[in-house]
Amino acid sequence: MWWSYQDVAEAKERIQREIARRVKRGERFEPLAVPAGKKSLCGTFWGQAWCRHLETYQQYESRLPRGRSYLRQGNVYNLEITPGNLAAVVAGSELYDTRVRIEPLKAPDWQHIVRKCEGQVSSMLDLLAGRLGDGVMRVLSDPEHGLFPQAREIRFDCSCPDFADMCKHVSAVLYGAGVLLDAKPELLFTLRGVDGSDLLAQAKEAAVTGMAQTGDELAGADLGAIFGIDLAELPVEPETAPAKLREKPSKPPSKRRKRAS
Ligand SMILES: [Zn+2]
Repeated sequence: MWWSYQDVAEAKERIQREIARRVKRGERFEPLAVPAGKKSLCGTFWGQAWCRHLETYQQYESRLPRGRSYLRQGNVYNLEITPGNLAAVVAGSELYDTRVRIEPLKAPDWQHIVRKCEGQVSSMLDLLAGRLGDGVMRVLSDPEHGLFPQAREIRFDCSCPDFADMCKHVSAVLYGAGVLLDAKPELLFTLRGVDGSDLLAQAKEAAVTGMAQTGDELAGADLGAIFGIDLAELPVEPETAPAKLREKPSKPPSKRRKRAS
């Protein structure tokens, strides 16, 4: 079907009237804002890495560019990222309900990532800002073994007549997820059904173990020498403070590692 400029303008007006009608009825319609005038859709490590990853889906190569321009035109509304799901309303020649289902990251794959990042993620803020060392960021954004889904882990569904192959609405939603990750990178963990703080726990455990070791070393050291007193010559009374010095410092309870769900 060939669309004239006038057809497109009329369709847009019709859609806008439909949205206004639904908003009046109490429905939510929040357009996903895409930075205008910039060549790149996304400006952060996570958003850009997500979009780069999409472009490795060779089977959808021809479908992706149309989705990108659809998104730029402000046609994606109410985009939500929930565990295993992207959902939005996309304005085409009608309003379409578009959903992308993404399999959760398998527990052994997540454990593998957590092990590879062990002790290297000291701050969730730095992780989300993409400011950690190259090694960690490479592990997390590895095209095959990182956090991003493989094409085979994606199923999509759109109420348009063209959804059997990836339609431009699905593609717009996939790119839209990159834009959302720019603002809320933590949603990548939500989407893949894993707890990002597992990465942090590893660093905390390492720190706690380090502290405990220091405590053990102190307990085993010659306390008399350290404090410049002769412990053997102090009066021995069970409840006195010097006797307590001999006690091994108790270890802080180690944090239980959360299981990836
Ligand atoms: Zn569609």
